[in-house]
Amino acid sequence: MDLKEEIRAKAMEKGFQLFGVSDMDKLETVEFPTDRGLEKPSDFMADARSLIVMGMVIWDEGMNAAICTPGTGDFSGGEAEYYNLYYETVETRAWRLAQWLWDEKGIKAAPTHSVHVKVAAYLAGLGFIGHNTQVITPEYGPRVRWIALLSTAELEPDKPFTRDLCAEQPLCQKESLCVKACPYGAIIPGPSQGVPAGEKVIYDKCVVSHELEKDINSKWEKHIRRITERGFMECTLCNLACPYGKVLDQEIIPKKRGLA
Ligand code: SF4
Ligand code: SF4
Repeated sequence: MDLKEEIRAKAMEKGFQLFGVSDMDKLETVEFPTDRGLEKPSDFMADARSLIVMGMVIWDEGMNAAICTPGTGDFSGGEAEYYNLYYETVETRAWRLAQWLWDEKGIKAAPTHSVHVKVAAYLAGLGFIGHNTQVITPEYGPRVRWIALLSTAELEPDKPFTRDLCAEQPLCQKESLCVKACPYGAIIPGPSQGVPAGEKVIYDKCVVSHELEKDINSKWEKHIRRITERGFMECTLCNLACPYGKVLDQEIIPKKRGLA
């Protein structure tokens, strides 16, 4: 088995369902919003030779739990403390893979959320960036959370994803179901491609951006699924609306719940 296939198999064993390798040079040139804690791959690891992208399927809404203190900042830092279950889970799993790479192959690797992981997933051929700006995969729709793993391994990049899954989706021909599902009109209709980085979802209109506030207005509270005083299950209405993700409701979730 070649190295890439060996790493893929190990990633599956560590709890990921999707795996690909991005073209790092292309990712270097991709525009990203400057206020979301993102950076270029080379800023994160100067000697990286490959960028692996891995996806974990979200089959229970509880995986979207987040806890934060009030304060300013974004989800990657600032004065507010922020804990997010899926962030921590994918990162921990990726660190286990990095440990294996070091122990077994002498390859240096480090996971990060700070590169533009959605574009990385597209470049790795794993999915299409849909009208809701999420990566829509043929296998699981957008119900996937991602992590990048930069490494010193020389790995052949995969080819970018070529299909336009939104244009192909019969149920979204009249109106994009994800756009329609947002109770705050935060998603600008139409394709994400061609829209300046960070502008497709109007940040202040998305309920998730208000979780850091101390006194959350009742307008937002309605769709903040509070589980404790400062714990929330993040809004996923635009994610759950995507027809490509329905395979989870029909097949995967019943199995996970032991019902099928
Ligand atoms: S997460 Fe909720 S509020 Fe934010 S864009 Fe999606 S549906 Fe709208
Ligand atoms: S709901 Fe429709 S338009 Fe939105 S991402 Fe899914 S397929 Fe694309």
